[in-house]
Parts: sequence; structure tokens; C-alpha cells
Amino acid sequence: MYKGIVVSKGIAIGRIYKYANEKLAITTRSIPAEKVEEEINRLEEAKEKANKFLHEIKGKATRELSSEEVQIFDAHFAMLNDPMLNDEVIKFINDEKINAEAAVKKAIENIIAKFAAMDNEYFRERVKDIEDVGDHLLRALTGNLNTLLDIGDDSIILAEDLTPSQTALLDKDKLKGFILTRGGKTSHTAIMARNLMIPAIVGVKGILDEAQHGADVILDAISGQVIINPDQKALAEYRAKLAAYEKKQRELSKLKEKPARTCDGFGVKVAANISIPEDTNRVLEVNADGIGLFRSEFLYMNTGQLPDEEKQFKAYKEVVEKMAGKPVIIRTLDIGGDKELPYMDLPEEMNPFLGWRAIRISLERKDIFKTQLRAILRASNYGQIKLMFPLIASLEELDKALEILDEVKEELESENILYDRKMEVGMMIEVPSAALMADRFADKVDFFSIGTNDLIQYTVAVDRTNEKISELHTPYHPAVLRLINWVAEAAQKAGIWVGICGEAGGNSLLTPIFVGMGITELSMSPGSILEVKKKVRELSKKEAEKHVNKVLALNTAAEVEEYLKEVSKTAEENY
Ligand code: PEP
Ligand code: MG
Repeated sequence: MYKGIVVSKGIAIGRIYKYANEKLAITTRSIPAEKVEEEINRLEEAKEKANKFLHEIKGKATRELSSEEVQIFDAHFAMLNDPMLNDEVIKFINDEKINAEAAVKKAIENIIAKFAAMDNEYFRERVKDIEDVGDHLLRALTGNLNTLLDIGDDSIILAEDLTPSQTALLDKDKLKGFILTRGGKTSHTAIMARNLMIPAIVGVKGILDEAQHGADVILDAISGQVIINPDQKALAEYRAKLAAYEKKQRELSKLKEKPARTCDGFGVKVAANISIPEDTNRVLEVNADGIGLFRSEFLYMNTGQLPDEEKQFKAYKEVVEKMAGKPVIIRTLDIGGDKELPYMDLPEEMNPFLGWRAIRISLERKDIFKTQLRAILRASNYGQIKLMFPLIASLEELDKALEILDEVKEELESENILYDRKMEVGMMIEVPSAALMADRFADKVDFFSIGTNDLIQYTVAVDRTNEKISELHTPYHPAVLRLINWVAEAAQKAGIWVGICGEAGGNSLLTPIFVGMGITELSMSPGSILEVKKKVRELSKKEAEKHVNKVLALNTAAEVEEYLKEVSKTAEENY
């Protein structure tokens, strides 16, 4: 039994799919002459497996990536089946009487050395492709081709962490859960798991070395436990728990068509956070009131180059059309921090979360920013799009961003391209400096959206991705709640609306506090929407205001949490 931090709730029973990112260690073995034939046969079989594997990734890539990226796989096919590689490997097996793995390694190294020394840039750039092909072949030979593409039914992924593009490769029908050894509640894999509505726990220690690929497993992402090779008793117990959990979900689903309104008539929009256009399907399933945060950077992350205007336009248009008139808030590129773009070669920094990220990059790379703004504005002609800027920390930054937005609008006007002239423009409040200056910002935007994930990390000085201090990254800290309350008051005074789109927005314990503060939009992972809606419906605005006063008078996060648990219990009993 192992313990971890729950980042996406649920229970799953399945089999471990162990994904190890580490490089393969290849050992050289001498073989007797009579075994040469056998090694060559092994090579043939591995090639066949690697071909099948490439074929599958290519199929997946064709659906999700650009045609330019898909072409890379054609190059890989050609290399894998190139007689030059084949002959070279066989020659090593024959001449040196070594195992196929060692022969492949040598042959690949030889080819790389030849290509790297070439005068021609095209060939030099192929080195990475040859390495990839060599890696596929070696993994096929050593039985390590567990590549996330070929997961079986009821797979529960066990890994250190996954990149967004690795998550993109997973077959969502077969995937039942994530067990990760790294990451915190607001790491991006955690966010992805919640968007997919798949149970996940992170920060699980020791499990990666001990658990076997293919082992039976119970993932209890309610209490934060993993049970490997459970006995019959545990299985029976968890089958019952799973059934009870599913029953609760079915009960909640009855709220789908009901509004999120308190019993004394205060309406809240319960909206969803998405990362990629496909997430919209789950948003529609739970009938969210809109999309409160479209993390547009994932369009940039799941690919090998900057997405052009057309690709972005299509993605935004697809989402806004699917939402059929409901609002979609698109946040401009928020890269940096823990979100990397390998092809952009972002500088290595001592403190990436305090470094060159989000709006800071957009304001400097005006070319990238303007392309995105053009795409968003063009898509605004097809539904209700709102735009917001991430990580604003000073008035100058907001002014500059708005200036560039005006420039782009003028360009579209002069090209007679249609866009929504009334499109709302807002900003995220994620930095304490912005929260404290909210009264000044409020005159310049149509809305605020509070990003609690970053606001907490910058207020309490806690790295949101560090599992060692994840307990300290808490929305219950009174300083965080005071900042949120101040922002809400400033917004109300200026007559603009304010929402919350950080993970705290989906934390139903905090719903009474946010409602009491007069926050009118809560945006969260689709999986939390119905539960939060239920909480809103159990409340009265008046009573919620009293809770705010009580909570703001408390001293510690623990006191706040305890108070809110009590409130939740009483509300449940009275409902
Ligand atoms: C936040 O910081 O709360 C937020 C919503 O943005 P992200 O999690 O994408 O940084
Ligand atoms: Mg943020």
C-alpha cells in the first residue's frame, strides 16, 4: 500500500501501466557462432514491432498534429527500414559475434557520427531522428516498448510525471487513472487529469521501483491510497466503494439542467477550465455555464513548432461553436514556469516561476502575441469569446497588452476582417501586486479572473509544483482569502464582475466564502462542476456573507479549513 496526494478524485480498479522515461542501459554480450541466426531473427522481429509502433503513433499524430509534424514519422519509417542500417547491424552481429542490442547501438552510433560530420545542415539535423529510431528499435528488442500508445483496457499509468504531449497520446477510453511520483495539486499533469475526469494521485513515494508493469492495482483517489496486487477482500470492498461513488455521481448529474443559484436568488456561473479543444466534450457533458479558462498554451505545447494563426483560429472557433452561445474565456499564452516549449529554447532560469513567463514573453515577442490576438479576435465572430491576459503584475503591463490588442483590432478593421467589437477583455489576478492594485486595474478591464494557483504560490512563497511543501500551498491561508476579498470589493466598487479560475474555484468547501464575497463565476475542472453547483444551491447569500466575516477574522489556515468543514456538514444536514 502506498500513499500520495489526491489531485483528481475518483476510484479506479485496473492494471499498472508502468512508463519509465529513463534511457535504456544496453549491455554487450558475446554470442557463439551458432546463435548468430537467432540474433538476426530477433532483430527482424524487433523491426516489425518498431514498425507497428511507428504506424500507431503516426495514426495518432495524423489526428492531433500538423502535417509537417506527421512527415517526421515518414522519415522515421524510411530510416528504420533503410537497408544501410539493417546491413550494418547484421554485419556487427556476424563479425563481432555480439547480441542484437549491442549491434544496433554500435550501428546507430556509426550512422550518427557520419551524419554529424556532414557539411550539409539537413543531414546534421537528422541526428535526432536517427537517435529516435535507434531508441524504438532498442526498446522493441529489450521488451521496453511500453510507449503509452499501446495501453491495454483499464490501464492505470504509473510514471514519474508525463508531459502534455505524452498525455495526448493516451487512449482515453482505456485509461483509468494516474499514479505519479512527482508533481503537486496544480502541476499541469494534475490539471490534465481533472480535465479528463480521471482519478489521479501524485507524490507517491517508492512505488516506481517496486510495482511491476501489469500488476493488478486499486487506485483510491479519495483517501489517497494505492494498493498493488490487492487480495479478494480488498477487491470486493473497493468494488462496493466504486459503485457507491458512481451512485453519488449519478445523483449529482440530476443537477445538470438546474441553475447554480442560492435559495435567495444570487446567481453564480459555474464554468469549466479546458486545455485543448477536445476537453469541450466533457464541458458539454456536465452542461457547464461556459468556459471560464481556456489555457491556450496547450495548443503551443502539443506540437513541434509555434501554431500559426490559422491553426489557432480553427481551435478557438471549434470551441466557441461547440459551446453554442455560452461564453468562452480564452487566456493568452501562459508559457514558462513549469510549462516548457522545447522549440522556443526558453532560457534556463534559477526561478522559472519568477522569471520570463506568460504576459512577459508575449509583450516581448510581439510577433507571437499578435498572431494569437488575431486568431482570437477572428474567432470572436463565431460566438461569445472573452479575452484575458495572464500574470499581469503592473499597470504598465496591462496598458501595453491593451495597446497591442488595439493595434491588432485596427489591422483587422483595415483588412475588413470581422470580429466581435464588444468582446470583453479581462485580466487574471495571480500576483499579489495585481491583487493589491485591483482598484486601479478595475477601471481598465471588463472583468477579473483570480488564478489562485499562482496567487497562493506568490503570496505564501510556496512552489506550486513541489510535493514536499504541497501542504503549505493552501487556499485556506487567511492572507490569500483577504487578497481575494479585497479584489472582489474593488471589482464591485468599479462595477465589473469577478471570477475564480484557479483550482480553489472547484473546491466546494470554499464555495460559501466565494459566494459570500459576491464572486459571480467559478471556473473549474468539469468533474467538480455539479458538486459546486449543489453547494451553491444549498446556500443563501446572506448566510454566506456571515461566513466570510467569520473566516476573515480567523488566524490560521487550519482554523479556516476546520470552520469550512463544519459549515459544509451543517449545510448537508439541512438540505
Ligand atoms: C492559476 O494560476 O490559478 C491559473 C488558473 O493559471 P495556471 O494554473 O494555468 O497557472
Ligand atoms: Mg496561473
